[in-house]
Amino acid sequence: MSIPFIDLKTQYARVAEQVGSGLDAVLKSGAFINGPDVARVEKRLAEYAGTRHAMGCASGTDALLMSLMAFKVGPGDAVFCPSFTFMATAEVAALLGATPVFVDIDPVSFNMDAADFERAVRAVEADDASIHPLPAHAGKLTPKAVIPVDLFGQLADYEGILPVAAAHGLYVVEDAAQAFGATVEMDGVTRRAGGFGQIACTSFFPAKPLGCYGDGGMCFTDDDELLELLQSIRVHGQGRDKYENVRLGVTGRLDTIQATVLLAKMDIFDDEVRLRQEVVRRYADLLGSIPGLTLPSVGAGRVSVFAQYCILAESTEHRAQLLERMSAAGVPSSIYYPKPLHMQPVFANLRYAAGCLPVSEDVAGRVFSIPMHPYLTMAVQKDIAAALAG
Ligand SMILES: *Cc1c(COP(=O)(O)O)cnc(C)c1O
Repeated sequence: MSIPFIDLKTQYARVAEQVGSGLDAVLKSGAFINGPDVARVEKRLAEYAGTRHAMGCASGTDALLMSLMAFKVGPGDAVFCPSFTFMATAEVAALLGATPVFVDIDPVSFNMDAADFERAVRAVEADDASIHPLPAHAGKLTPKAVIPVDLFGQLADYEGILPVAAAHGLYVVEDAAQAFGATVEMDGVTRRAGGFGQIACTSFFPAKPLGCYGDGGMCFTDDDELLELLQSIRVHGQGRDKYENVRLGVTGRLDTIQATVLLAKMDIFDDEVRLRQEVVRRYADLLGSIPGLTLPSVGAGRVSVFAQYCILAESTEHRAQLLERMSAAGVPSSIYYPKPLHMQPVFANLRYAAGCLPVSEDVAGRVFSIPMHPYLTMAVQKDIAAALAG
């Protein structure tokens, strides 16, 4: 029997009845766009994230793109983001003609290093690459926004990042694509993914902790005006009525069908987050004694939803050996992410030098992921551990 990397089939068995009846109702209603389940899931997820508003959209990438559009990000603007993340985080800035300024990560959490972020902002303000590596650019850049990423399901270091952003007047857009359901205790209150920044974004790509059955995403905000702006951008910059356009926008809506799927999955979501913690505890027991592996660690007061279970090998060669062993044993594995964004061919025009963000580059050379989902059993986890132990 083959081991799935992410087991959506077992999950489907749990929600099949409700998904089936929900989809049947949508199909019979014909309300495929803006059906009542869209507003329902927006309300439910805003309550969950602890924000006043949520707006469904077509993907996590669209959520990020529309957020930057709402802040009128464009040419000459610097948008700070970690280099060790999924392409979409930086892509949206570049698509709008802005310049991504890459920041290094913390070697333990893999999330953006707040001190390095602060240096990067000062470097842009002073236009001085001796303070922090800067991308090649024409003219002086204006620091405009930061996109902290809650990588692999763990909230970014908002304790460190938010004061820097505030001190320098930057918009904060949380990229919570991998972290819906994650929490942190801050100043004695529990704060949730989706609740950071002026706008937070998540993705419902099927493999994310809260996934739908296609593409989908959501923006979260407390700000009434930003919500209105985002809603306009979501349908071609719509004004007072459908055929008045007051700004440029996109087609960025969430399908009713996906909203219906999400409502069904929300009923079991907290239980799945709990199951993920059990899986992670078992991995810690099974893998803790294997020499040369650095297991993921979650900061004090934080709960990760473990979108991925990422391990560090000792070296790139060691990782290759481990991946080969797993492959021989029929255990699927993956590398998130083999190349930091500042080294991606598409950003060659930014002329970042190899070695300039050393932690991102080191981690990209050693990291790998093993199966992670709420329905992993002890027996399968033992097989995975045996493959890794060799
Ligand atoms: C998946 C992901 C996105 C993009 O989400 P899509 O719904 O696939 O467009 C953005 N940022 C991060 C960190 C992601 O993992």
